Amino acid sequence: MKWVTYRGADGERVGVLSGGQIHALPAGRSLLELIGAGPDVLHSAGEEALQSPAAVVALESVALAAPIPRPPSIRDSLCFLDHMRNCQEATGGGRVLTETWYRIPAFYFACPATVLGPYDDAPMAPGSVWQDFELEVAAVIGTTGKDLSVEQAEASIIGYTIFNDWSARDLQMLEGQLRIGQAKGKDSGVTLGPYLVTADELEPFRRDGKLGLQVTALVNDTVIGSGSTAAMDWTFGEVISYMSRGVTLQPGDVIGSGTVPTCTLVEHLMNPDTFPGWLRDGDVVTLQVEGLGETRQTVRATAEPIPLPPRRDPAAAGPVSGPVSGPHTAPASVRVNPARAKVPYTRGLHEVAEKVWAWTLPDGGYGWSNAGLVAGDGASLLVDTLFDLALTREMLTAMRPITDRAPITDALITHSNGDHTHGNQLLDDSVRIIAAQGTFDEIAHDAGVERLAAIQTADLGPVATPYARERFGHFDFSGITVRNADQTFDRSMQFDVGGREVHLLNLGPAHTAADSVVHVPDAGVLFGGDLLFIGCTPIVWSGPTANWIAACDAMIALDAPVVVPGHGPVTDPDGIRGVRDYFVHIIAQADEAYGKGLSLAEAVDAVDLGEYASWLDSERIVVNMYRRYCELDPDTPAPELLGLFAMQAEWLAKRQS
Ligand SMILES: [Zn+2]
Repeated sequence: MKWVTYRGADGERVGVLSGGQIHALPAGRSLLELIGAGPDVLHSAGEEALQSPAAVVALESVALAAPIPRPPSIRDSLCFLDHMRNCQEATGGGRVLTETWYRIPAFYFACPATVLGPYDDAPMAPGSVWQDFELEVAAVIGTTGKDLSVEQAEASIIGYTIFNDWSARDLQMLEGQLRIGQAKGKDSGVTLGPYLVTADELEPFRRDGKLGLQVTALVNDTVIGSGSTAAMDWTFGEVISYMSRGVTLQPGDVIGSGTVPTCTLVEHLMNPDTFPGWLRDGDVVTLQVEGLGETRQTVRATAEPIPLPPRRDPAAAGPVSGPVSGPHTAPASVRVNPARAKVPYTRGLHEVAEKVWAWTLPDGGYGWSNAGLVAGDGASLLVDTLFDLALTREMLTAMRPITDRAPITDALITHSNGDHTHGNQLLDDSVRIIAAQGTFDEIAHDAGVERLAAIQTADLGPVATPYARERFGHFDFSGITVRNADQTFDRSMQFDVGGREVHLLNLGPAHTAADSVVHVPDAGVLFGGDLLFIGCTPIVWSGPTANWIAACDAMIALDAPVVVPGHGPVTDPDGIRGVRDYFVHIIAQADEAYGKGLSLAEAVDAVDLGEYASWLDSERIVVNMYRRYCELDPDTPAPELLGLFAMQAEWLAKRQS
């Protein structure tokens, strides 16, 4: 039998589904009460409803609630170990599970107060930007029992329903560091429905004692994952037996199976081809399970949570820091960019030549990037957007006195990194976004926003975690959907902005796969993008490093007296020479270390940065040395995901001590 609970005019009503019609019991009955009366009573109540219903209503004409809207308890287990392997791998932990996963079936208690019906809107967890779902099947307990054998546990199941375990991955990751179990990361909702299908009805799907139901999960009607419940490593009988040790299970208790592998977003996190981004307001999540029907829900944004001030760590020096501190506050320890500034290096808009502006953001470290504006008659070119939406809004607002008269018609994106692209979505649809083809391709295949949010919350160990918080805690990566370029070019492009000629040159690959600069000949201004870090250390994401030197030579040859870097204060061709000299110096250091047979770790330990030690973010030598080692020996072992990040933090800690 398929039991439903629906919202009638006179409150919740219970009925049995038959041929699209609900055969309702008299008002005032609940499925929980019927289950509690025992399987025989439930069965005869169903038979009676089918033969002489109190009411008959069409399924489509009513709103279904969860079959048991307020279960006595909800326990969710993790019976598919491949789900855990896939999750671990996607978040950088590899596929090997600790031995305990094979010894006991894992479960946690979920929240009966947030049970949702099969077609109800699904609220996002307040404060989360990593909203996810999980396709599971739930078994519902029919008989009271304690210390059950596996067979008794299996027999105690009265029926099954679909279970969507809504999950906030960022909150889960944060709370996971406390190692005391699930909390707000799993609190936003549990969907049950559309029916409770009694166990006898699913017997045809049982093979070798296992229930084999085909399942499919979709977001906006695109398949995210599929599989079969036959792949459970721990059976319902086993996990329920484990749960009943010393505990009396109650009729109506709900037991989740755990996620069917691939039927959740997080497992796809590192695969840009199958990861559509975290759930957003308006997304529709559909779970289909053979024999159990389908749930279909729209995700809805919720209000920001009420903030709680963090506690001071008595063992930590300096101000309180961490992911709970507000975005856009100044870095915890005041850092000063040591470079000479051609125009005052302050946050905001600076006219660097006639109708050419630089937007600078001290101190030039991670995410504190520059942008630019070139205005002509009735049209402007924007050079890059910024790291998050608030920073970009602040800049576009400050530019408004100029862009009201000369609206932005074109935007050149110098390269793919988020601190130059994340604000693209704030540009008017009419703005033509231009980028080199290599930049377009990198943006199309980037999981950058997700990775950055992971760095904000992940436990990276005692040295790298505070480093990550200090570097990235100031930014707010919520709501970002990177808008890619509308037009691409390969090596160069020339066009007219309101009567002014601008030249675009792709001098990469060096910092990234393609690195474009903007030359405005009539103003003598060059925007160098991230081929230029001034007073802060360049970082080689792509290489080859020798190509970065060639790019510096090409920029020097343009002979522009005013040079706006991607990071750091506005400079001149001497600033470009400084970057060139840095690479000459570190290539020599790397090549010498390699020649002596030093490992990468030994080489970064031994490196002498000379005058470049005073540049901010000098720890990037770790990444730069690694790229050079890869050029010298393509078989240089690749550090694991985020491994280079941790190495930088450790290098810095060592040099500062
Ligand atoms: Zn940058």
